[in-house]
Amino acid sequence: MNGLMQDWPLLIHRIIDYARVQHPNRAVISRSVEGPMHRTTYAEIHERARRLAKRLERDGIGVGDRVATLAWNTWRHMEAWYGITGVGAIYHTVNPRLSEQQIAYIINHADDRILLLDLTFLPLVERMAASLPSIERFVLLTDAAHLPETSLRNAVAYEDWLAEADADFAWAALDERAAAGLCYTSGTTGNPKGVLYSHRSNVLHALVNNGADYLGLKSRDVAMPVVPLFHANSWSLAFLAPMAGASLVLPGPRLDGASLHALLEETAVTVTAAVPTVWLGLLQHLDATGAKLTHLRRVLIGGSSCPPAMIERFERDYDVAVIHAWGMTEMSPIGSFCVLKPEVADLDGAGRLDRKATQGYPPFGVEFRLTDDAGRDQPWDGSTFGRLKVAGPAVASAYFQDDTPILDDRGFFDTGDIATIDPHGYMTVTDRAKDVIKSGGEWISSIELENLAVGHPDVAEAAVIGVAHAKWDERPLLIIVAKADRNPDKAGLLAFLRPRVAKWWLPDDVVFVREIPHTATGKIQKTALRDQFRDYRWP
Ligand code: ADP
Repeated sequence: MNGLMQDWPLLIHRIIDYARVQHPNRAVISRSVEGPMHRTTYAEIHERARRLAKRLERDGIGVGDRVATLAWNTWRHMEAWYGITGVGAIYHTVNPRLSEQQIAYIINHADDRILLLDLTFLPLVERMAASLPSIERFVLLTDAAHLPETSLRNAVAYEDWLAEADADFAWAALDERAAAGLCYTSGTTGNPKGVLYSHRSNVLHALVNNGADYLGLKSRDVAMPVVPLFHANSWSLAFLAPMAGASLVLPGPRLDGASLHALLEETAVTVTAAVPTVWLGLLQHLDATGAKLTHLRRVLIGGSSCPPAMIERFERDYDVAVIHAWGMTEMSPIGSFCVLKPEVADLDGAGRLDRKATQGYPPFGVEFRLTDDAGRDQPWDGSTFGRLKVAGPAVASAYFQDDTPILDDRGFFDTGDIATIDPHGYMTVTDRAKDVIKSGGEWISSIELENLAVGHPDVAEAAVIGVAHAKWDERPLLIIVAKADRNPDKAGLLAFLRPRVAKWWLPDDVVFVREIPHTATGKIQKTALRDQFRDYRWP
């Protein structure tokens, strides 16, 4: 017997419908690509999203078509998501930090029909236009006054194009399982793979992640997703904020410490989210200027491991609570949050910090499994390593236009991360499977060594890679970027690490570099470092 409740499909445009009714005047403040600050509301975004849907329909875009965006976080990018999904099409966020070859690959693989782009990316797209045959029209996210001469096919200024339609549009009637968004993983090996979100998975993911223990946005919050809309749904914030009725601040193209600090203060942001490298920039700016964080209350840090020293700085020096989160594009993307359950809430000092630096436990809607290579379940004892596998309604079941099965015999997806889980359910990522260092048959966690090394007062950033070793197969090499005007040396760094790690974990050498390479999503690019140090010889 079925329940007798209404069939109310979980569709993305219902989020902006709701915000228009309940929170119409809530501010959405952006730093525009053209320069000045821009202010709008959920009511206006709703209106413009409807016009966009109608305008897309006039260009022949309908259910299942892909519309690409190559854009920073601004109100135009956000309303485009709602307009695109509202006509039944699929927003495809393209990460502009990928190589030109990868961008061409994914736009062609997705068979995108329209590309919306920020002015910043005009030179890039003009160079690539000949290799993007599926794009019928290029829409520049600006107005006529700022539209430069361009050779792009059917190019138009977004504002003019939008003005050609009115807002009298009925959202497409869709099944909640219909595809809504497409995002490719950066594919450190092989070609990028497309993750195809549905309306249902995005709505459920936003509902779950706004739980009080997790993002917990309220209508009185001001949320600033620094994490780009093109990085795995901006961790749901463009859905979550209108759902909660919170104000939004969108930082546009300027993500350096000084620009972010100015926005945090001027717009009174209370909650923000980004990868650790972004926060490194902000903390360095605060160090250099002695500035404070007046309004900020919570910061979500994820995408790569958040070092305990960063948590400590935010919490001790600025009274900002850190929520360390873990996830991946295939998980929409959040898989776990580190918040303290009652069982561990009494910890203080180093114990509390160590706990807060774990990747945490999943919210309702994400299940974990820990297995060995043969797929046998491993104990949750806090010390046994295993492959972390996940299941849930916002976890990928397959890649876009790819027949390769990606789920195990119990329907779990292998994250490619090696982790431990403790008896309270807290998960710690040791490494990407391809990054673990195997020394004499035992594993050394590069992430743990990196986190410890950045605790040294003279270190800005640290990376650890395994380098071939005649006796032990591989040994850890520590690569350091020093803070400005500091000169740490090898002996001092090893002396700092020695009491903090098992003896055989101590790196065999330390090298100093000016910069550590990062991936398109802000992670340390271990493949590039391994290439860079291919000819390295142990002293
Ligand atoms: P990409 O496209 O660069 O792979 P993803 O965001 O999908 O981007 O990357 C997911 C991976 O990032 C995870 O499998 C994990 O290895 C790493 N990661 C994400 N968050 C964390 C975290 N908090 N701590 C450690 N690793 C993390």
